[in-house]
Amino acid sequence: TPAGVTVHETLPCRVLVGLGARHGIPEEVERLGTRRVLLVATPSAGGAADELAAALGTRLAARFGDPVVHTPVEVTREAMAVVEQAGADSVVAIGGGSAIGLAKAVSARAGLPQVAVPTTYAGSEVTPTLGETENGVKTTRRDRALAPGTVVYDAELTRTMPAGLTLTSALNALAHAVEALWARDRTAASDGLASESVEGVLATLPEVLEDPAATAPRERLQSAAWLAGLCLAQTTMGLHHQLAHALGGTFDLPHAELHALMLPHVMAFNLPSAPHAARRLTRIAGRDPVAAVADLAHSHAGPTRLSELGVPRDGLRGIAERVVAKPYPNPREADVDALTGLLHEAW
Ligand code: NAD
Repeated sequence: TPAGVTVHETLPCRVLVGLGARHGIPEEVERLGTRRVLLVATPSAGGAADELAAALGTRLAARFGDPVVHTPVEVTREAMAVVEQAGADSVVAIGGGSAIGLAKAVSARAGLPQVAVPTTYAGSEVTPTLGETENGVKTTRRDRALAPGTVVYDAELTRTMPAGLTLTSALNALAHAVEALWARDRTAASDGLASESVEGVLATLPEVLEDPAATAPRERLQSAAWLAGLCLAQTTMGLHHQLAHALGGTFDLPHAELHALMLPHVMAFNLPSAPHAARRLTRIAGRDPVAAVADLAHSHAGPTRLSELGVPRDGLRGIAERVVAKPYPNPREADVDALTGLLHEAW
């Protein structure tokens, strides 16, 4: 690519969005021309999975109900044994990023088309990336073929998320949009997606937390998370994702909680060096965006400090060293001392 030129890649994806969209899944499976579906679903999506299993009838080849966070390869091997035994020719995943990650891992190995039905705001359903763990080491790869060809957004499936998960998962989405605004490879398209996403999350999340079972705010929040997922797919994430990756991998921390509590700290650190993002975020928030996000992060009982997640204080410098050792794009240069300081703030 010539200097000064940015590549913006849009992946082909058929999206069904709206209340009751899940009832269209059997027809989507038929459209793909497949006859033997592997249904991957977390226990939290058990009701929707049972309903879909009944609707699929003889097209259902097998079910797999034990996806695990960070896609451990042992679990993928178990799922692959089910694929082979049942002769599955497509995979439908209902659940959060863990269920969708497992479907991507299976699809990559067996070449199966995927239908992703997200029940959180993680965004994995629209990205061509997959993080897998083997012997405690997480490696991430990117390949267009990993992105599900069909995505079904039915906000009814998100109404069961408890307030804590709703908050952390929505802030996880917000982190994708915020990092897209200061990304080195941002474009007019990613700026548009990110701005609309930030606006949607900031405006709707308090409403959803007030009444987690109300459908209209849930629909708007899910759409904001969809756009955030597209930001994650189209731009290169910076410091926030590097820190989350290093902390999560080293101390085995919960994905969404970690993103939620780190985001205001990384924003406070980066925004002085990212005037474009700072201007947009201030305009959207109508005030200091760091305070707006910090207020949201504290708006429900839950861990707000790294210490509460069990991260040892004497482990912080090691995390800073790990992050500095692997170069990544970020609007602000950060050495080990600066990052250790940021981590102490979050601790
Ligand atoms: P998750 O899928 O692990 O779900 C967290 C918990 O919430 C689980 O216990 C699940 O059963 C429950 N849950 C999910 N939906 C629910 C609902 N509607 N109601 C009640 N409970 C529900 O968490 P996540 O944050 O969605 O995903 C995290 C995983 O996804 C990590 O492995 C992360 O690395 C991966 N991820 C990947 C990408 C990517 O682009 N590759 C993007 C984001 C996240």
